[in-house]
Amino acid sequence: MTSQQTATSMKTEFKNDLQFALSMDKADELAEFRKQFLIPKTKDGKEWIYMAGNSLGLQPAKVRDYIGEELDDWAIHGVEGHWDARHPWLPYHENLTEMAARLVGAKPIEVVIMNTLTVNLHLMMVSFYRPTKERFKIIIEADAFPSDRYAVDSQASFHGLDPKTAIVALRPREGEFTLRHEDILAAIEKEGPSLALVMLGNVNYLTGQAFDMKSIAAKAHEVGAKAGFNLAHGAGNLHLHLHEDDVDFAVWCSYKYLNSGPGSLAGCFVHERHSKDFTLPRFAGWWGHDKKTRFQMGPQFDPIPGAEGWQLSNPPIFQLAALRASMELFDQAGMAKLRQKGDLLTAYLEFLLTEIGGDFFKLITPKDISQRGSQLSIKLKSQPKDFVKLLRERGVICDFREPDIMRAAPAPLYNSFEDVYNFAKTVGEHVS
Ligand SMILES: *Cc1c(COP(=O)(O)O)cnc(C)c1O
Repeated sequence: MTSQQTATSMKTEFKNDLQFALSMDKADELAEFRKQFLIPKTKDGKEWIYMAGNSLGLQPAKVRDYIGEELDDWAIHGVEGHWDARHPWLPYHENLTEMAARLVGAKPIEVVIMNTLTVNLHLMMVSFYRPTKERFKIIIEADAFPSDRYAVDSQASFHGLDPKTAIVALRPREGEFTLRHEDILAAIEKEGPSLALVMLGNVNYLTGQAFDMKSIAAKAHEVGAKAGFNLAHGAGNLHLHLHEDDVDFAVWCSYKYLNSGPGSLAGCFVHERHSKDFTLPRFAGWWGHDKKTRFQMGPQFDPIPGAEGWQLSNPPIFQLAALRASMELFDQAGMAKLRQKGDLLTAYLEFLLTEIGGDFFKLITPKDISQRGSQLSIKLKSQPKDFVKLLRERGVICDFREPDIMRAAPAPLYNSFEDVYNFAKTVGEHVS
């Protein structure tokens, strides 16, 4: 059974009661993973109903030990830790490569953990946004995350272009909240020979809408453009197949669904077909240099084939240690199973919110589960900010985006059906 079918057939059996939610938790083979996380508590010692994992994921219990090991090895070995630490620091980021590749559906040569998200987005555009007089436009969502918009605008300006003409921002149709797939493809077709790059989030942060990367990348390539995606809300959320989807590049942060702590490191994917293209312009740093000759400290840059060749600096080990603790959990659970549970949790949340009904809010995330992950965006009709604050006072944590969107994200690694039930119950008790 596909997860689409599972969620559809389950929906008919969903019940709005605690016993039902508890029975779902009992049958959930991933339920044990919750114990691997530190769940914040209210003043009276009750665990928060945490639905903000798409904003900042919770702390895996092992993070403290993993960072502690590196602190100890630094105290014991000093600089020798680069070779003598239990997990030597020189190749430390390589501990994450295979897990990251499995997470996003890539080959190991296609991924690297480095820098932070917006930095990686810029580095990728240095290589893959090469505007010419005829071909210079970038397609992005009109309601893209602001950092993405600033990044593409400033790239256009950097090349001496006016963002007003270089950036094509896609808006939903009048009266609609999300983009229609056919409209995205039509826009690519329309810009055709003037289009240099399609740069979309693979899950829009605001609406929770997931895009079909494969057909978007194919369309972009058909007109001669490149396709890059920001997976900030997709990595650790959707079951991704970046290699097969044939996207040119992708970037993601690791502090949202990937639980590696505030401001933590980012991931970067460069498709294998670009891995040995050393003619691509890139901003270079010593960590991207051939490992065999890096420490000869010569003046000539000799890039490592693949995504690693885009590295700049030697990476922060404590942050990598935190990410390793989290990635091990993703690797144990596997994205296919996590997505299946995520679909059920999200469908259950949708069912319960629909039961509350009324015209207090509107769900703007697509109903079709192939167009969403573990997030529902709830457009509130009155006093949105106060409502989110009121929920917080009751130990229910979700994210708010101006002017009126509440985002609830049941994360399948640590959220339970009971959480979803209690979330909806609290919402139901306070809607007027
Ligand atoms: C979270 C997020 C960012 C944040 O960027 P940082 O460089 O990590 O601060 C950027 N873009 C999108 C789409 C995001 O969801």
